[in-house]
Amino acid sequence: MKATELHARPSVDFEAKLAHTESLLRQAASNYAPVLPAGPALVSLACSLGAEDMVLAHLINRLQLDIGIFVLETGRLHAETLDLLKQLKATSRAPVEVFHPQTEAVVQFVQREGQDAMYRSSELRKACCQIRKMEPLERALADKKAWITGLRREQSGARAEVPFEDRSDVRRVKLNPLADWTWGDVWHYIGHHGVAYNPLHDQFYPSIGCEPCTRAISLGEDFRAGRWWWEEEGNKECGLHVKNDTSKQGEPA
Ligand code: SF4
Repeated sequence: MKATELHARPSVDFEAKLAHTESLLRQAASNYAPVLPAGPALVSLACSLGAEDMVLAHLINRLQLDIGIFVLETGRLHAETLDLLKQLKATSRAPVEVFHPQTEAVVQFVQREGQDAMYRSSELRKACCQIRKMEPLERALADKKAWITGLRREQSGARAEVPFEDRSDVRRVKLNPLADWTWGDVWHYIGHHGVAYNPLHDQFYPSIGCEPCTRAISLGEDFRAGRWWWEEEGNKECGLHVKNDTSKQGEPA
């Protein structure tokens, strides 16, 4: 069964939520417009190519907003995700930038710890995420004053208080325009607008990351149960959404 048929259940106030999301995106494009007319916008969507981020990429393109899109291509993504990336690059009006890890750092880590070191300890898993995700993320955000994510409160207990606008990092604002959307809202939008999505979502992968660190979930399992499933619940963030204010260092967002 297709994920759209399985999940598309809009909230009663879906239209109001959508209007609010569109307004937040328009405001972001205006607040963080390029300094020079032909220059890059100072705000970008961090696109994981998951369902939420495909909705946001679609909205940015549909509303013709001056907001960039970037993808962290870790070198360990599923073939299906790479195909979707190709499709997004070919069809997006907004520029799509792809950031890869530093080759030397990957080669040294794999030579030292092996290709699947992430299963051996939480430290090695985080070291892999640091090289393949966090360092490229810093490069992607270097010239940005704001970034947009597809975080939703419903995704996990650790994300239950995700704000629409997060100013806890003094370096830049994080905007979460889908914070109050449900999974049903996301799939309603995808179905209604014919948004391209990762076919792994049709195979019970609600949250898709790197291939070695993602599995399908079973009925009744938590939304993020398929991510780093061998680790304890509190550890299930790669660092991308860890708060940066010193009082909450290490706390998953
Ligand atoms: S999700 Fe897994 S493979 Fe991807 S960077 Fe993190 S540890 Fe490495």
